[in-house]
Amino acid sequence: AVKQVPLPEADLKGKLKEVFGYGQFRGTQEAVIQNVIEGKNTFVIMPTGAGKSLCYQLPALVLPGTAIVISPLIALMKNQVDQLNAFGVNAAFLNSTLSKSEMNRVKKDVITGDVRLLYVAPESLTKDETIEFLNKATISFVAIDEAHCISEWGHDFRPEYRKIRGIIDNLGANVPIIALTATATPKVQLDIQKNLQMDDASVFKTSFNRTNLYYEVRPKHNTKKQLIQYVKQHKGKAGIVYCLSRKKVEEIAELLKVNDVKALPYHAGLDPHVRMANQDAFLNEEADVIVATIAFGMGIDKPDVRFVIHYDTPKSIEGYYQETGRGGRDGLEGNCLMFYSYDDIVKLEKFNKDKPVTERDNGKLLLQEMANYADSAVCRRRQLLHYFGETFEKDCGFCDNCKHPKERFEAKEEMLMALKAVVQTDERFGLDHIGTVLMGMKNAHVDSYGHDKLPVYGQGQDHDAQFWHSLLRQALLNGFLQKDIESFGVVKITPKGLDFIENPYAIKLTKDHNYEEEVQQEEEK
Ligand code: ADP
Ligand code: ZN
Repeated sequence: AVKQVPLPEADLKGKLKEVFGYGQFRGTQEAVIQNVIEGKNTFVIMPTGAGKSLCYQLPALVLPGTAIVISPLIALMKNQVDQLNAFGVNAAFLNSTLSKSEMNRVKKDVITGDVRLLYVAPESLTKDETIEFLNKATISFVAIDEAHCISEWGHDFRPEYRKIRGIIDNLGANVPIIALTATATPKVQLDIQKNLQMDDASVFKTSFNRTNLYYEVRPKHNTKKQLIQYVKQHKGKAGIVYCLSRKKVEEIAELLKVNDVKALPYHAGLDPHVRMANQDAFLNEEADVIVATIAFGMGIDKPDVRFVIHYDTPKSIEGYYQETGRGGRDGLEGNCLMFYSYDDIVKLEKFNKDKPVTERDNGKLLLQEMANYADSAVCRRRQLLHYFGETFEKDCGFCDNCKHPKERFEAKEEMLMALKAVVQTDERFGLDHIGTVLMGMKNAHVDSYGHDKLPVYGQGQDHDAQFWHSLLRQALLNGFLQKDIESFGVVKITPKGLDFIENPYAIKLTKDHNYEEEVQQEEEK
């Protein structure tokens, strides 16, 4: 790559206005863009809707050569290329939908340097002919969109993504990389940087907090009735209802229609024309509600979505957060309602059965996190942000658990016991095992490590596994414990936790929801 002299600030602002028509950069956009222009490796972690695309689109316009953008979805690629072309930017894509002659035309325009951005699917990237062609082109930098696809620990793993580093190495001397994602937990973030060998990258991570979104979880019970009521309360407003299967999408769309809601279905099984027409109807406000599988939403930019409902429990917190993130993008009202049932979790686990072992195990962990989130009576926002590696000290006051708090109990003694158990087991185990030791139960691990000889063994037998699990999760959330980033599931004590063991103090915690009981109480009213 050619070494670049940073442009004066005004020029970037000028380009922003001239090409995209925006008056101002958002958040850290400008710093990111400057970093890319200086030829440095860059890692961008921003929530959906924050404006990640511009972080590579603008540098591509000012640097000589063509920027390669690796993107996982053909539909997404086409969307962006169309948009850029509409702005008068020469952008193109290479993927399996092109004919031989279209392909040749694009390649020619890249080699002459006319194309500023070339979008490529990871599959095409690994083909010999593509590699050969890229070697003839002048490449300004490589952007890797949806970079979490690299990580097996993420929710959207794509094996081809793991080949990207090797391909970039073959492109010649030091092509800089910009990796972007909306869903990096600390573990995934580390994995991405390792795999792309960009430990040196400047990392730009903005807060994931979406202050205008209200989070709510309800048990699946009379779900259809609840759904209709909820949608009617938001009559005339735009909303998305996510369902797990195409069949369910059809059923729920129909249900809403017969209840006088302007709703349309969206899923990959629909005829492409119908699907596009339904999407357009939603965007143009001819329909209020779109009932969809998770295929819907990527790259769609509708600022005034007022509610996002998960009719079925989602597969991962990452996915859930991305989907709810499509609500209230204009900063105004956004309501996120999720229906939860453990049966859904079990069903989803069955879907994972035929996957390779690591993917299956990871899928299970993601599901467990989802169930924990739903069951917990702790502030939803604190849980979500903690999941993405952010510390959020106070309860938010703007979620169901904050609005309707459960009674809290004094947990000084139990917390002390739990933290001691972590220390006494040498900080090498996960929550389940620590719970087992506290309850004084037997299993192979307890035997082989001699944990039944520990002072804390059996001290917590007055409580059950769910209690200890919930308490330990709150210990994590309150910063007494932290997850070990290297070995999944293992928890370690923090300085704050050690301090607590030295000088314990009063601390109020909550017990998990017992939805069955809550539903019953609701019925009796
Ligand atoms: P992300 O990829 O982070 O989800 P996008 O790149 O799709 O977000 O951007 C979301 C929306 O914000 C788009 O409509 C985009 O045009 C708009 N946008 C991005 N940057 C700016 C800016 N500086 N000023 C105004 N609008 C912006
Ligand atoms: Zn809250």
